[in-house]
Amino acid sequence: MLTNKVLRLNRDELRTPAIPVTQESIAYVIQAVVPKMIEVMRKEKGLGLAANQIGDIHQVFVLEMEGEQPQTFINPEVLEESDLVDHVEACLSIPGTSATVKRFNKLKLRYLDESMTSQEVSLEGIKAIAVQHEVDHLSGLLYIDHLGDTSRMFCLNKHKKFVKFSSRMR
Ligand SMILES: [Zn+2]
Repeated sequence: MLTNKVLRLNRDELRTPAIPVTQESIAYVIQAVVPKMIEVMRKEKGLGLAANQIGDIHQVFVLEMEGEQPQTFINPEVLEESDLVDHVEACLSIPGTSATVKRFNKLKLRYLDESMTSQEVSLEGIKAIAVQHEVDHLSGLLYIDHLGDTSRMFCLNKHKKFVKFSSRMR
């Protein structure tokens, strides 16, 4: 069941590893899942979204970088990685907080495009980092999993305060 809102922390869907898209499921993914993902990503002003964030089980994520068209990545696989950089990260599933995470600054990504054609691209900077964040989602991981205990606690407390505050505002 696809949701109209991004699922938040503590939902099992976010912790369930996604399954590969196949010839049998591609039509459903392209016609139903991807358009809904793009709609929800835009509504919640994110630059990327993984399928399990709206309750789907397939290995697909979308990115919409500033000034670019939204792009769909199916069955993604990170191939080569470079040196690590610090990056301040946030997630639509954990609103109201952010934290510094170590990410590869460059990587090579293999994926299938919307016509199930295999593609390989070299990415760098914010786009490479966004890909790592979304590929993590598809493995059931969140950026807070990369933090030490203290910063994770700090991050989660900030999120809880945000949720409490925004529910009071409603
Ligand atoms: Zn996220």
